[in-house]
Amino acid sequence: MPKYVYDFTEGNKDLKDLLGGKGANLAEMTNLGLPVPPGFTITTEACRSYLADGRLPGGLREEADAHLAALEKAMGKRLGAADDPLLVSVRSGAAFSMPGMMDTVLNVGLNDESVHGLAKQAGDERFAWDSYRRLIQMFGKTVLGLDADLFEDAMEEAKRAKGVESDLDLDAADFQRLVDTYKGIVRSQTGHDFPSDPREQMRLAVEAVFDSWNAPRAVLYRRQERIPADLGTAVNIVAMVFGNLGMESGTGVAFTRDPGSGQKGVYGDYLQNAQGEDVVAGIRNTVRLQELESIDAESYRRLLDIMRTLENHYRDLCDIEFTIERGKLWMLQTRVGKRTAGAAFRIAVQLADQGLIDLDEAVTRVTGDQLAQLMFPRFDAEADRRPITTGMNASPGAAVGKAVFSSERAKELAEQGEDVVLVRRETTPDDLVGMIAAQGVLTSRGGKTSHAAVVARGMGKTCVCGAEELEVDGQERRFTAPGGVVVNEGDVISIDGTTGEVHLGEVPVVPSPVVEYFEGAGDRDDELVRAVDRVMTRADSRRRLAVRANADNAEDAARARRFGAQGIGLCRTEHMFLGDRRRLVEDLILAGPGEERQAALDALEPLQRSDFTAIFQAMDGLPVTIRLIDPPLHEFLPDLTALSVRVALAGADAGARDRGLLEAVKRLHEQNPMLGLRGVRLGLVIPGLFAMQVRAIAQAVAERRDAGGDPRAEIMIPLVAAVQELEGVREEAEGILREVGVEALIGTMIEVPRAALTAGQIAEAAEFFSFGTNDLTQMAWGFSRDDVEAAFFSRYLDLGIFGVSPFETIDRDGVGRLMRIAVEEGRAARPGIKLGICGEHGGDPESVRFCHEIGLDYVSCSPFRVPVARLEAGRAALEGAGPEHAEAGA
Ligand code: PEP
Ligand code: MG
Repeated sequence: MPKYVYDFTEGNKDLKDLLGGKGANLAEMTNLGLPVPPGFTITTEACRSYLADGRLPGGLREEADAHLAALEKAMGKRLGAADDPLLVSVRSGAAFSMPGMMDTVLNVGLNDESVHGLAKQAGDERFAWDSYRRLIQMFGKTVLGLDADLFEDAMEEAKRAKGVESDLDLDAADFQRLVDTYKGIVRSQTGHDFPSDPREQMRLAVEAVFDSWNAPRAVLYRRQERIPADLGTAVNIVAMVFGNLGMESGTGVAFTRDPGSGQKGVYGDYLQNAQGEDVVAGIRNTVRLQELESIDAESYRRLLDIMRTLENHYRDLCDIEFTIERGKLWMLQTRVGKRTAGAAFRIAVQLADQGLIDLDEAVTRVTGDQLAQLMFPRFDAEADRRPITTGMNASPGAAVGKAVFSSERAKELAEQGEDVVLVRRETTPDDLVGMIAAQGVLTSRGGKTSHAAVVARGMGKTCVCGAEELEVDGQERRFTAPGGVVVNEGDVISIDGTTGEVHLGEVPVVPSPVVEYFEGAGDRDDELVRAVDRVMTRADSRRRLAVRANADNAEDAARARRFGAQGIGLCRTEHMFLGDRRRLVEDLILAGPGEERQAALDALEPLQRSDFTAIFQAMDGLPVTIRLIDPPLHEFLPDLTALSVRVALAGADAGARDRGLLEAVKRLHEQNPMLGLRGVRLGLVIPGLFAMQVRAIAQAVAERRDAGGDPRAEIMIPLVAAVQELEGVREEAEGILREVGVEALIGTMIEVPRAALTAGQIAEAAEFFSFGTNDLTQMAWGFSRDDVEAAFFSRYLDLGIFGVSPFETIDRDGVGRLMRIAVEEGRAARPGIKLGICGEHGGDPESVRFCHEIGLDYVSCSPFRVPVARLEAGRAALEGAGPEHAEAGA
């Protein structure tokens, strides 16, 4: 039988998958000799078993009882005993941190008897009754699923009745009355009494924590953060220590560095006479951690010591939750802390400079997604900026949108395509939907460690929190800023997560300094720019994959080159058939065979040639893969309905051209155009079309060569499924190249499953393969992308059929398998064959890693993603299992 329960002395930080992050790190701190209250962890395996079977696995109860007995022995108290009760917290803790998403119950073990024992032992009646009402409140919400407002309202009523504002002004008798009220709420809502048996409380709390894994907000959070749905959570049972034992007690959170900027120092919040979740929930306003020095110098000094120990031990920014119980410091949690994208780069390089890690490790400490975030625009510093207030700069970025005051409204407007900023007094885990929908989040209460701040940072979303001057009225859907400025729902505001400023109206945005750096104009004195430069330089020196760009014009090509692209992996020629040239394409379609068609092609050729010449010039000396026309021709014709109406309205006066066009649109209409007459099929069916394109490429190469340039053309045939298709086109193209007297590689896309499965044959006629994973995914799954994404992908994600859309990240098992086969058989048939990818996946971090693993030579993505792909290729080379295939030149 598996071992389901681990004492804190038995675990360590590497057992996250089994013990969850919290359990693993509590064990690690215990073993470092830090002051952690004793306790034990029930594993994620037990949770998975519980969720699968709907009951706790056999043997778990006995094992947990034995650990509880050991805990009671160590503490010299029994759980819930009437005279001197041991109380425990029951805390969730999954392998990935999910702030505020899952549930915790404190003070388990209290009942009508043990509350007196607690009061006696602590010498504090008020504390005991406060702890008891907290248990009923948390238990009621978490375990019994009651509406939290029922308890909140009773609390507000108690304060109102007494004429006080803060819970600190309530006394023992008030809390005792609240306990009665709370018990009444439980009874009336559930039909049962609040359970007084401590062991039953504990068991129910454990089951509730397990169940909270599947709470809607946790499901949503996991999807957002791409955390797999089947991991389950661990549960930690920890001896309670109390931060609510008077003003010499308290609870707080600390970071070893600023999670916003990466600066070393003392960052955090502290709340006197408070318990557990009060700080993160933003119930009362906290003080800055530095102020703890004047409140309790000894604990402060000890905390700073521990923070140093932890940072050196974990070699990274740590975040910490602690409690002080009557002057004694206890560590309740630590983990490698979430941070903003900018802080991630700065911290990685700072740690390398300190010698705690080397530069290779620094590269692995940052991600492509973080780099992408740093490339977003920010507010123009030169703009007229007169903030209506300034809050805390909790998560950087520039967000502009209409103010909204509820998550439902945020979602509603976002679905209508509006940009919104979610404004709340404070956020709770139930606001996740609105936070995802919004451009940014603004709160009037809570510090940098409040729910809003932590979650926004995790999502990379702009957040200003604790803007205390704002009076937020959610009911009336408005807030009031100093000077009487009233902002109603729908008014546009701009929030700056880097400075904390809040503006009325739209503040203009400017490019990020990181983009300017990639453009070659960045400020090298800027710490962030320097950190990005050092990480990127190292990643480039380590990566094996080359990175190219998808670009269809000289401007994009030039930008891609500045961003580090080593060529063009996909130039889609159909984009050159749009705009003014559309008429020429219509001519081509309307033309009869023979001379008429040739005339239409002749009109297009010089235009194509000049496009290619400009691109070759921008990418001089680097490979440029030009794909011959791919989409069905009717895409270049007017819409059937619009044209029919025009012709019908004109009646007998309808022009010959319109009638001809209508005729052509009807003739070319297809039920499933994605599977119809497109790609190589067009080239084979419409004589002269591909030849015109190849001639334009060849002449552009000749022109650049004659001008002293170094053009390197690669001609790519789309949608090939059989080598015979390719052979025909290839022969014609070779003839034209010979005629013009230039050279170019000729290859194909692998985007039809049959091409992947017959790659050995196709390689006989192809000097390169480029995986078109957009089509390959459509055809491997039988999904028409435009139809399925909106129709049912969210349901598929809910059902866990896939964790991420296969159009975003390569589906390793299916599409990936096709790619592996093609790589293997292609290389076997033609050892030097060049292999790349040009589908959207080429810029997706996880997919870049897959391409590294299967031994591609390059990835190609949109110009803006090129730096992301460079970084991920470097990380893959440093971390990955390495390519499965022998290296070949890129
Ligand atoms: C592909 O299918 O992956 C591809 C790059 O081609 P397109 O997206 O133009 O169909
Ligand atoms: Mg395609």
